[in-house]
Amino acid sequence: MNTVFFDVDTQLDFLYPAGALYVPGAETLLPALTRLTDFAASHALPIISTMDAHSADDPEFKAWPHHCVAGALGQRKPQATLLGTRGHQYFIEKQHVNCFTSAALMPLLAQLQADHYVVYGVVTEICVRHALRGLLATGKRVTVLADAIKELDPAAAQASLYELVAAGGEVSSTATF
Ligand SMILES: [Zn+2]
Repeated sequence: MNTVFFDVDTQLDFLYPAGALYVPGAETLLPALTRLTDFAASHALPIISTMDAHSADDPEFKAWPHHCVAGALGQRKPQATLLGTRGHQYFIEKQHVNCFTSAALMPLLAQLQADHYVVYGVVTEICVRHALRGLLATGKRVTVLADAIKELDPAAAQASLYELVAAGGEVSSTATF
């Protein structure tokens, strides 16, 4: 089983209360994120990390507060999510909530030849949901880790998980790693 971790938008602006678009409670994911990053390092699993990278006048800011402007502090990722020299991590920068709008993503998936994607990050019902849909469309096994995602809207987040399961995906937890 060739597993690839798929880390969605775990960036400072989303994770921390002082962030520009804080996802309430997201900082409580940090122990799980550390565990997953360490597991990837010790088992030589690649991590694909999607990252918002907006321009200062990005159209998305009509709907959301300014966040994750390319090069700003809040666009960076916490140490808990970084492999550094411990393994292979691929950063997919994107301007849109759907990471599959990045032209770099599909070639990367083709290169890595995963047969199982393990997905975590924020926001469950927005960027994580788009990632899950796109990964399921590749026909590979897709698992989301329920204790390593965080939502803005609990009902919409729940609907995202039902949608995943209905499409053949799996819901699991970091305890399995
Ligand atoms: Zn954004």
